[in-house]
Amino acid sequence: MRKIGKIEVETMSEEHEVELVPDSHAASTAPTENTAATDAERSTEDAVPRTGQRSLLGWGRVAHVFARELCSENLEEISKQAVLSRGLGRSYGDASLPAPEFGPALSTRFADRILDFDSETGVLRAEAGLSLRDLLHSFLSSGFFVPVTPGTQFATLGGCVASDVHGKNHHRDGSFGEHLRSLKMRVADGRILVCSPDHEAELFYATLGGMGLTGHILEVELQMARVPSPWIWQKVKHFDNLESLFVALRSGSAKWPFSVAWIDGLTAPGREHGILMLGRWAEADEAPRKFPKPRKARTVPFDAPSWFLNGLTGRIHNRLHSWTHRNSVGIEHPETFFYPLDHVRDWNRLYGKRGFIQYQCILPHEEEGYAVLRFLDLLRKLGADPLLCVLKDFGAQGKGMLSFPKPGFTLCIDLPYRGDRTQNLVDQLNEFVLAEEGRIYLAKDLHTRAEHFFAMEPRFEAWNEVRRRWDPQASIRSALSVRLFGDDA
Ligand SMILES: Cc1cc2nc3c(=O)[nH]c(=O)nc-3n(C[C@H](O)[C@H](O)[C@H](O)COP(=O)(O)OP(=O)(O)OC[C@H]3O[C@@H](n4cnc5c(N)ncnc54)[C@H](O)[C@@H]3O)c2cc1C
Repeated sequence: MRKIGKIEVETMSEEHEVELVPDSHAASTAPTENTAATDAERSTEDAVPRTGQRSLLGWGRVAHVFARELCSENLEEISKQAVLSRGLGRSYGDASLPAPEFGPALSTRFADRILDFDSETGVLRAEAGLSLRDLLHSFLSSGFFVPVTPGTQFATLGGCVASDVHGKNHHRDGSFGEHLRSLKMRVADGRILVCSPDHEAELFYATLGGMGLTGHILEVELQMARVPSPWIWQKVKHFDNLESLFVALRSGSAKWPFSVAWIDGLTAPGREHGILMLGRWAEADEAPRKFPKPRKARTVPFDAPSWFLNGLTGRIHNRLHSWTHRNSVGIEHPETFFYPLDHVRDWNRLYGKRGFIQYQCILPHEEEGYAVLRFLDLLRKLGADPLLCVLKDFGAQGKGMLSFPKPGFTLCIDLPYRGDRTQNLVDQLNEFVLAEEGRIYLAKDLHTRAEHFFAMEPRFEAWNEVRRRWDPQASIRSALSVRLFGDDA
């Protein structure tokens, strides 16, 4: 334990430094580690350097690349050889996978030290592999929270920067990059440098949402948010009419810092319904006196059969979800509010060995959210069974050159993977999104075709120019950049 300001933080001693390359006996089909490093893994016994390849997977477990993954607390060292950095592998598609046959990736999950914290200003400096979970365990009790959090706490700071993640407060606070002070990076020519809005600004803004392709992020300096209590004040409201839900989501966003809607995407036309959740940090005098205990998670111990999650089980789940989320106002546990899916570890295994995809797009705002209704109609027409359907209200576009958010409704849907049918489905959804002048989120993507992506992303050329200035040979490369950006395989 080490004290930084008022905050006690776990730190690793130098003797524990390891250089670990997983061995070739690791089952090639087994998922790669996607939890924060455990003490056992860090022990010197495990620190024998080994060589070999393993199957690295995206969170949807459809994309995989057979490759070496370098793991060490010493990111400066392993970033000399790696062709891509990855965090906890929570991106659903191929963003965190190295280009096939191209070279080792590095995993940042052992490099998770908090390096500095100023309790007066709330500015934090930490290694890129620090997970939001560890960060929150150290800071929430002292009245600080991350300014923007995605829907999982199993994401690293580096992953949050590279995807420029958004949260339920995008309409008010923008995305993760808005709260960054600086980044320490190793760039393709081998140099280590610090970039910020004032220094090497182009590199800084190309890295926000740049999906790891502008360099290896080694350290992150971030402005943390002060919170009045560790609890959330939440309002839940059920809607039997989606148009009313969309109007309430927009007006709720104008008043509340956090907003999100869940939609039952498996109903017949005319029977749609959904739930609006609005939240803010509870004031000290409203909050329970005790600190919220970390929630115990259950683990899915094995892969469910691939038919397990289907339209029928989805409908049963949606009924239960509606039942358990009736109209209410009151205190909510922060983990339940921000990270409902984290209550079940490895929940991606419920989709079976074939895996699943998440499709996330933005549909620019228009009166009453009719584009979202047309999108849901299209899903029905295409026979898709969206097992999860979540809607958020985005605010202004940020400064990240390739960051996903812009004003509009963003819709995330989970779909079981069905081979060519899934490709065909994504093609048709992308045609729709293009016609609506929307775009898709690279952190979730696996099936978008390059021509659709370029048509949605007039910003790509400018971003790619910056990337190529820093890395003319595209020596930092991912499976995604080969599929979408024209990098050589
Ligand atoms: C349940 C769930 C809910 C989610 N909810 C949201 C949400 O609400 N909003 C949202 O925006 N996203 C959401 N996501 C997506 C997730 O937040 C992002 O994919 C995030 O990038 C994952 O972080 P990671 O550490 O696992 O990164 P990885 O998945 O390992 O990598 C993601 C990208 O970051 C790059 N990268 C990672 N570390 C570094 C580094 N040190 N240097 C350079 N590049 C790096 C990788 O190359 C890759 O391109 C969710 C994911 C899950 C599983």
